[in-house]
Amino acid sequence: MRYSERFRVAPGSKVTLGKIDAGFKDKHENHASAMGELEHYTRRLAELQYLMYAENRRSLLIVLQAMDAGGKDGTINHVFAALNPQGCAVHGFKAPSSEELAHDYLWRIHKAAPQRGQVGIFNRSHYEDVLVVRVHKLVPKEVWPRRYGEINAFERQLADNGTHILKFYLHIDRDEQLARFKQRIDDPTRHWKISESDYAERARWDDYQQAFEDAIGRCSTDYAPWYIIPANHKWFRNLAVSQILVETMESLEMKFPPPSVDIEDVQRKYHAAEEAAVKADSFSGRKSKGCNKKHKAG
Ligand code: AMP
Ligand code: MG
Repeated sequence: MRYSERFRVAPGSKVTLGKIDAGFKDKHENHASAMGELEHYTRRLAELQYLMYAENRRSLLIVLQAMDAGGKDGTINHVFAALNPQGCAVHGFKAPSSEELAHDYLWRIHKAAPQRGQVGIFNRSHYEDVLVVRVHKLVPKEVWPRRYGEINAFERQLADNGTHILKFYLHIDRDEQLARFKQRIDDPTRHWKISESDYAERARWDDYQQAFEDAIGRCSTDYAPWYIIPANHKWFRNLAVSQILVETMESLEMKFPPPSVDIEDVQRKYHAAEEAAVKADSFSGRKSKGCNKKHKAG
């Protein structure tokens, strides 16, 4: 199954998250049965990122959004671990600083957008400005509705300038969120993840779901699609995200850039250097006879 088609939200859709099965796992029984596929996509992803880095012509921006405990951190940890850190950057967006608040809401976002050749990963994003900001009424109610259009225009500009954008909503249901909150309580190594606001935000579940439905429906475009990823099963979430990334990157038909040097000329230089090294080696070999000198690289 091509998850890039299955989970993609068509522009202008009316999204109803409650109707989407967060526990979906396709043909797979469990993590073990999906392992082979998962490894295949992770390996391929690393190859494609290397190609993007070498090509140095365009970039990829991945936006991750979810309810609390939805798995944004886990996705970054598992799916993107295979990437070369030189070619990617993760940005987390927390409540804006006073300097950020003194600018328009896209200012901090644009600054973090990936440069050519790079994969940028956003852990939360400008969508918070139509999510938490809407739910908590942090701006007057005439302000946030116009942001959908502003966000579409902003993403269009990035896309027109060579940034491919993929947005993932990691969809868990209420029971799964509570189960994950419990795991956090039971595991002292996860206590640091518990936030004062977790339960207060959970109480606003329906408001958040409504805000997500509007944001996803109004801002899924051909140039910056939203994908709703069933995410109750962490391994299925990782599989779906990595498959969609691979499919998208393969569709870009990236190519290694032509060499900036004359390869035949470099080959000649290499052979000359190799010959000189062999000569020098046999010379020093004669000199050091009887010294038991080892001459091995590495
Ligand atoms: P966490 O991702 O758990 O570290 O939490 C980051 C917090 O920052 C969340 O509670 C977000 O809702 C909040 N946050 C992120 N962006 C914004 C924003 N633009 N305005 C207000 N709060 C935000
Ligand atoms: Mg949190």
